[in-house]
Amino acid sequence: MAKRDYYEVLGVPKNASKDDIKKSYRQLAIKNHPDKNPGDKAAEERFKEATEAYEVLSDDKKRQTYDQFGFAGIEGMGAGAHDYSSVFRDFEDIFGDFSGIFDSFFGGSGGRRRSQSRSNVRRGADLRYDLQISFSDSVFGTSKEIAFGRHDSCKTCKGSGASSGAGRTMCPACSGSGQVRRSSGFFSIATTCPQCNGDGYVIKDPCKECHGSGVVEKKRVLKVSIPAGIENGRRIHIPEQGDAGQFGGPSGDLYVYIHVEPHEYFKREGNDVYCVIPVNIIQAALGSEILVPTIDNKKVKVKIPAGTQNGKILRLKNEGIPFINSTSRRGDLYIQIDVVVPEKLSTRAKELLKELADQIDGNNSPQPVKLKDL
Ligand SMILES: [Zn+2]
Ligand SMILES: [Zn+2]
Repeated sequence: MAKRDYYEVLGVPKNASKDDIKKSYRQLAIKNHPDKNPGDKAAEERFKEATEAYEVLSDDKKRQTYDQFGFAGIEGMGAGAHDYSSVFRDFEDIFGDFSGIFDSFFGGSGGRRRSQSRSNVRRGADLRYDLQISFSDSVFGTSKEIAFGRHDSCKTCKGSGASSGAGRTMCPACSGSGQVRRSSGFFSIATTCPQCNGDGYVIKDPCKECHGSGVVEKKRVLKVSIPAGIENGRRIHIPEQGDAGQFGGPSGDLYVYIHVEPHEYFKREGNDVYCVIPVNIIQAALGSEILVPTIDNKKVKVKIPAGTQNGKILRLKNEGIPFINSTSRRGDLYIQIDVVVPEKLSTRAKELLKELADQIDGNNSPQPVKLKDL
């Protein structure tokens, strides 16, 4: 049998808006829903046909391909009678309270949406650990022991949640679907099964250790290696060290967030480091050689050129922060010169400065200069 054009199926024009398509599908789906037409194969077919059409026309990309190439174009795109995934992604949006109408009908295909919770397997939660480290540890790298609580698979029941033997059985209240239906006027509404909380299973004889959850809270101690050069705010991803999964599900991951304590003198920017070094007016005027501390706790000789002005910045190459995963590459160290005027002078020093004053043109009426960025 030839397939009917999707626009024809939904009874909308080719240029129909998304809202019109949604509205039309909603009407068709409710009208032809098998719960309302028990045993009516034709209605069931119309329902399926409308759902397939909606699945394609509600997706911009699929709709465009369909418009251009017809059925042949969308064949490879996962569209067709058995893929309702995108419809189900927004079916609550479409049907709101009527979402329950899909429950019984699709069984295999529609139920896929909940199949994961039905089998009850759950991935463990990801965990976050906030770790404070010193500036120096962030520069050189370190290894830290951290202790935290996490869900561990219960040893007593091997994670099954059940006392030996009894196991899990299908929830009698919802027959394993995880939902119970209530009739509300014309439609029946599905709600989460109160007996199994939507799992679809109940544990006959819950494990005493974990009370049926399959997991227990345990303290874990872990060594975290922190690479040299790590920046404040970065996180270290440690797979499978989060909460254990439930009933055979995989563990979540652990994320260690790094907080670097600020340094008293050094300020990091990218992989470069800044610091301020005071020199007196004589050192600045005549030039000198000074020893400057670096982040490696060594001292390097720096030449201050004669006539150095306050605020001048000098660069020490390769004395900055190491790049992560590089053995040799580092940023630079920038030192800002802070010219300091002596406050206490001996009588002799005053005499010498007065002598100096005679040698330098003192300007009693200086011209203002532009404001400097501070
Ligand atoms: Zn149940
Ligand atoms: Zn247990």
